[in-house]
Amino acid sequence: MPIYEYQCQNCQEDFEIFVRSFSQEYTPICPKCESGDVKKCISLFAGSSGDCDDCTVTSCPTGAT
Ligand SMILES: [Zn+2]
Repeated sequence: MPIYEYQCQNCQEDFEIFVRSFSQEYTPICPKCESGDVKKCISLFAGSSGDCDDCTVTSCPTGAT
């Protein structure tokens, strides 16, 4: 199950979204301020540590080390 991490561009809140389907069109909103202006940070897939190409968030779990 993929996990998408987003950062709110409004309040800088970082949050993760579990997505059931790859084909599902999903528009995340910030859980803190409910803004729809969020930036996709990373996607995590099972068995893959991945790189954080777009991630500029220091708290990113895959980019922290
Ligand atoms: Zn926010």
